[in-house]
Amino acid sequence: PAEMFSPERTNSAGVEFGDRAALERLTDAIAGARGPAEAAPVIDGATQPGTARDVVSPSDARTVVGRVVEASPETAAAAMQAARKGAAAWGRVPAERRAAALERAADAMEDATGRLIHLLQAEAGKTLDDAVAELREAVDFCRYYAAQGRTLFATPTNLPGPTGESNRLSLRSRGVFVAISPWNFPLAIFVGQVAAALMAGNAVVAKPAEQTPLVAAEAVRLLHRAGIAATALHLVPGDGAVGAALVAHRDVAGVVFTGSTEVARHINRALAAKDGPIVPLIAETGGINAMLVDATALPEQVADDVVMSAFRSAGQRCSALRLLLVQEDVADKVIGMVAGAARELRLGDPRDPATHVGPVIDAEARTRLDRHGAALRRTAKVHYAGEVPGEGHFVAPQIYEIPGPEALTEEVFGPILHVARYKAADLDRVLDAIDSTGYGLTLGVHSRIDATVERVVDRLSTGNVYVNRNMIGAVVGVQPFGGHGLSGTGPKAGGPHYLTRFATEQTVTINT
Ligand code: GLU
Repeated sequence: PAEMFSPERTNSAGVEFGDRAALERLTDAIAGARGPAEAAPVIDGATQPGTARDVVSPSDARTVVGRVVEASPETAAAAMQAARKGAAAWGRVPAERRAAALERAADAMEDATGRLIHLLQAEAGKTLDDAVAELREAVDFCRYYAAQGRTLFATPTNLPGPTGESNRLSLRSRGVFVAISPWNFPLAIFVGQVAAALMAGNAVVAKPAEQTPLVAAEAVRLLHRAGIAATALHLVPGDGAVGAALVAHRDVAGVVFTGSTEVARHINRALAAKDGPIVPLIAETGGINAMLVDATALPEQVADDVVMSAFRSAGQRCSALRLLLVQEDVADKVIGMVAGAARELRLGDPRDPATHVGPVIDAEARTRLDRHGAALRRTAKVHYAGEVPGEGHFVAPQIYEIPGPEALTEEVFGPILHVARYKAADLDRVLDAIDSTGYGLTLGVHSRIDATVERVVDRLSTGNVYVNRNMIGAVVGVQPFGGHGLSGTGPKAGGPHYLTRFATEQTVTINT
């Protein structure tokens, strides 16, 4: 049905950066919204005690952004228990009211633009355009799931049957969903998971990433104020032990997770090892995302799209380009232009609107990336390695040439691009190599030959394929996002089939 694929609503307008007055209003709003931030466990609307620590900025570890009180595994268990009680009541709230609350939350997030963007920049190191895009995505998730869910959950579908029998199919909530979200989209993915689970009538216990609890806590305050029952949404900031306690709890009815493949496996195993119901996992993980560039591609456009896909957000998107494969005949030219475009990137304080690339998330990430870069500088051809500024956890964009696609065997989560050349006659072998990574998240193709594009799309079942453009920034309702294999369990966030994964289905047959 049309309302399932394109529910009645429009995506958030965001900010027009070319409009100087609008940009100034935005930067004023952000400046006016600084000030201490706090996150703590919240159960049934009440703040809980725990272990407090400072949250520091990835741009400068001397800057304290706020304070987080972290939950213990016992507090996590208490949240699960409260959510179980809350689930029964929330599941009976009419879909229309659940949807209306999410829509009010979306409006409230737009009204809180200054504060949310301040937190995204200070806590997660987001550049201004990334932060604006992320806020839009959070808002869009709420409105999209609300618009879709209000129909999906309100009316059972009547199904055909023999005379004297009526059949209907309805969607019902599952119970308590555990939502575990990543630091790279600490607002959009946090809110997207929570909104989908709530729209489907579930209670939620949400654990934001350890690095980014503050913006999540702000989102929870807005959601509660907008009419999401305090008994239906509980927050438990904390580390992996808290996540493990949630997943192991007997009352969990579903888990939605975005993060590494390794943690997704842990969760899957933990769920499988428990007695009781079989619990579904919705997981979105990483990728060794490739872009193929053949001899017919437009080099200028390739350069723009590669730089955007590999280096924006400091490469810290699971959709980001990791492996650029260029047809030999045009390789020198294309790689040269990509390196030239990378050289233009401004690395630095994410609060400066002129900054293109901000910091990576923390010292651990920087160390891992620095090691990877150093190893490649010894073994690979260096096409570009930029300089890093100042105090924070900065990693400069880097471009290394490796012998072939098989040489890249791990997801490198940062601004490091690997390039390899291929011969036109070897295209199938290259496609096999991409396929055999086992990942299937994003894929870029730059070619002006339709038959080549079709051949690539046909051979690879990658979740999101982008042709002749960049390969990041999937838009809600426009590019439903997610992959399979090592990249996740398949459901696409911001797509028409996502909500149903948070629900059970009931068929009722009545002999009339
Ligand atoms: N949806 C984001 C994009 O299309 C990536 C999400 C992620 O990194 O988890 O760029």
